Amino acid sequence: EVRVRFAPSPTGFLHLGGLRTALYNYIFAKTYGGSFILRLEDTDQSRLVPGAAESIEDMLEWAGIPPDESPRRGGPVGPYLQSQRLDLYNQTALQLVESDHAYYCFCSTQRLELLKKEALKTGQTPRYDNRCRHLRANQVQEKLAQGLPHVIRFRLEAGVEPFEDLIFGWNRHEVAQVEGDPVVIKADGFPTYHLANIVDDHYMKISHVLRGSEWLISTSKHLLMYRALGWQPPTFGHLPLLMNKDGSKLSKRQGDIFIQSFQRDGVLPEALLDITTNCGSGFTTNRMGRRIDELISEFSPSKITTHSALLDLEKLPEFNRIHLQQRIEDKEQCHLLVKDLQGQIQLAYTAEIQDKEVLQEDYISRVLHLRKGHISSLRELVTPGYSYLWVRPSFSHQQVTALTSEAQHIASLVLRLMEERGEELAVDHLSKDLKTLAKQAKSTKYREVMKLLRLALSGLQQGPSVAEMMVSLGPTEISHRLQKLLL
Ligand code: GLU
Repeated sequence: EVRVRFAPSPTGFLHLGGLRTALYNYIFAKTYGGSFILRLEDTDQSRLVPGAAESIEDMLEWAGIPPDESPRRGGPVGPYLQSQRLDLYNQTALQLVESDHAYYCFCSTQRLELLKKEALKTGQTPRYDNRCRHLRANQVQEKLAQGLPHVIRFRLEAGVEPFEDLIFGWNRHEVAQVEGDPVVIKADGFPTYHLANIVDDHYMKISHVLRGSEWLISTSKHLLMYRALGWQPPTFGHLPLLMNKDGSKLSKRQGDIFIQSFQRDGVLPEALLDITTNCGSGFTTNRMGRRIDELISEFSPSKITTHSALLDLEKLPEFNRIHLQQRIEDKEQCHLLVKDLQGQIQLAYTAEIQDKEVLQEDYISRVLHLRKGHISSLRELVTPGYSYLWVRPSFSHQQVTALTSEAQHIASLVLRLMEERGEELAVDHLSKDLKTLAKQAKSTKYREVMKLLRLALSGLQQGPSVAEMMVSLGPTEISHRLQKLLL
């Protein structure tokens, strides 16, 4: 049974790199009919960010890749929050101590600091010198009895066996040569990442660990722990890094890569999923506009390469445009977009909107269908250039008479034209029609006819062509606005 997990630390909010790791796990799970698990690794209590845990799960749901088991949803192998599993880690650590794979360490922070300083002085990488490995059993008992602060360290053995990574192939890091014995239980009784991570992967029956390639070098250490515990390790696959298109690091500290900020900016979740997979590998085709079901059907794990994925966020509006179009073309989704836009219009033009007709579903939906493929977010439709769609213009009698003395006549010609044309208005036809129509005015030139129509339809001096505006407004709304000229 395939069981994969996304295991972020709630020391920050979900960013694009994390979303991508979660996404590959999700796709992998769905490809093999398995389960996608969210586990929060909150063992570093000093670095917890309030609200991050809830927000990470919210963002996965928003993105459309909800976990099957999680802190919120629960599941058969919970709890899914490491801080609620402390007993399990302590039991496992004791198991390691009893089998002599781990030991108590009473070294003071001062001593460790000193070791570090010494190493740095001679240009070496600081590492623990494994001193407490050699304490005798009675010394340990004595110190424990005295209540001395202590940690538990895992005894790193030489002779690491190579493992085959799904993506990076055969790998092996002789950790004992470069590192001191790592802490597995800290002085506060909390486990470190390494211990908690493998204990949970084991007890949560994780079959495949797909995580960022920055963890590749830790895997040998994890495998030593699996061996010491007599556990069967999962299969590992390390995902290449997600980087900026210039090859620089996609920093977590860069505010604009947080999923919440994309959400706030009106980015569609499917556009975000599409762009993060589009720049990486693992798919049988490489095209824009894929939604999650297509990502799943086109996924091929053997196609994941070790190359970093280079993200070009400048292309995001393009991805959003394509996905917005897809939503508009889907009846149910379009209905939701209309609701969303109604809210935005009401917020933006509270004072100016006098007429509820422009808020009707039919009207808004027509506008959406006309603009699809041109706009990359709904918000564009509430910018000043489009305000004429939602706000009926107010203009004075003087403004009209300054342009022509036969406004009524012209308005009735246009109204008749609308009746003839019906619902189906097209820009090029209308442009021709308007030219012909202007000739029927007795004393008003084409230019003034256009100015008059622009005034009555939008109240604006500039903007899209009159024909374009008419197509967007549609016959009903045009009639409403031209009626005013008949008074
Ligand atoms: N908590 C680790 C992180 O934040 C998890 C790494 C892993 O997937 O093993 O990335």
